Amino acid sequence: MDWNRFLAERTTKVEFSGIRKFFEMAGRLENPCDLSIGLPDYDAPPEMKEAAIDAIRAGRNRYTPTAGLPELRRRIAADMVAETGVESTILVTSGVSGGLFLALLSALDPGDEVIFPDPYFVSYLQLVNMVGGVPVPVPAYEDFRFDPEAIEAAITPRTKVLMINSPGNPTGRVMPEAEIRAAAEIAARRNLLLISDEIYTGLCYDGPCASPLRFAPDHTVVLRGYGKTYGVTGWRMGYAAGPAQLLDEMTKFQQFTFVCAPSMAQVATLVGLDVDVSAHRRDYAAKRDLVCDLLASRFEFERPAGGFYVFPRVPDRYPDATRFCDAAAERSVLVIPGNIFSGRDSHFRISYATSDDQIRRGCELLCGLA
Ligand code: PMP
Repeated sequence: MDWNRFLAERTTKVEFSGIRKFFEMAGRLENPCDLSIGLPDYDAPPEMKEAAIDAIRAGRNRYTPTAGLPELRRRIAADMVAETGVESTILVTSGVSGGLFLALLSALDPGDEVIFPDPYFVSYLQLVNMVGGVPVPVPAYEDFRFDPEAIEAAITPRTKVLMINSPGNPTGRVMPEAEIRAAAEIAARRNLLLISDEIYTGLCYDGPCASPLRFAPDHTVVLRGYGKTYGVTGWRMGYAAGPAQLLDEMTKFQQFTFVCAPSMAQVATLVGLDVDVSAHRRDYAAKRDLVCDLLASRFEFERPAGGFYVFPRVPDRYPDATRFCDAAAERSVLVIPGNIFSGRDSHFRISYATSDDQIRRGCELLCGLA
C-alpha cells in the first residue's frame, strides 16, 4: 500500500526525538551509566500517591471540566497572584507539552514565525513545525545569555511568538530578572506573544526564578508542570496561566483534543501543592555542585542554576559532539550531543538526575575522554 497517499505532509516536517536513540542504546548496554535522563530520580510523595489511589477508589474517574477541577484552578490562580501580582486565567493541561501544543495551535497561522534562543528544548522546533509555523532559532552561544539585540534582529513582519525557557533545558541556565524583563519588554513593544516555559521553576537553586508574567501580563502565557517537581512525569499534569483571550481559545482546543488532564492526577496534585518538596531541591543543588566540581578541571561550561542539566563544550580534539558522545557510549556513559537541541554540535548535555555514584562514575569517565 502506498502510505504516502494517506500521510499528511506535516508528518514529513516532524522527526522522532533524537533522544530516543539514547534510550534504545541504554537498553542494549550492560550496566550503562545513564546521564541522558530527562526526569528526576525521586518518586512521588506518599501523600500524593495515596490521594490518587483514594480518588480512584472514590470514583473520581470521570471527565473533569475541560479547564480543570475548579478547586485546583482556584488554588493555582491564587498562587500566581501571590507570586506575580497578576490575575490570570488558568487552564490545567496534560503536562507542559499539552500547554505548548495548545498555545502554539491557538497563536499560529501557517507561515507565522516563532523565535527562540538556540540551544532550545527539542519539542519547540517540532511543535512549531507540527502546527504549520516556522521555527526561528537564534544562536545564544557561548554563554547562553538572552541577547535582546540578536532577538530583535530576528523579528520580521511574520513573527508572532517569542519563546523562552528558564531554567533552561539543555543548559540549566536561569535567566536573571534583567533578561526576563528584556524579553517581556520586547514582547510588549513589538506586540509578540511571549511563551514562557517554566517547567523547572520548582528546581531553582540560587533563589526564585523570575516570570515575565509580572512584566508583560497582556503578552505572556506561562507554562508550568508538576511532573519534574513532584516526580510524576507520567501523570501528565501542568498548567497554563495568562490572558483570558488566549486561554479561552486554548481551552476550546483542549475540549476537542486532550479533553481534560487526568482526573485522579488533578485531585492528587491539589494535595501535592501542600507537600514540602524542598528537600529534593536541596538534594539536586548538591548534585549540581558535585557535577560542577567533578567536571571543572576538564570541561568548559556555565554553572547551572536550575533544572538538572549541564551543557559543557566538547573538547577541541573531537570534530563534533556526536563523535564525543559516541566515544562516551563506547565506555557505557550516555550523554546527549548538542545537535539534538541546537543548530550546532559543539556541546553535550549531561543530566545529573541520578545517584551520586552514577554521577561520579560518569563524570570520571567523561573526564578521561577530555
Ligand atoms: N519543557 C521543557 C523545557 C522540558 O524539559 C520538558 C520535559 N523534558 C517539557 C517542556 C515537557 O514536559 P511535560 O512532561 O510536562 O510535558
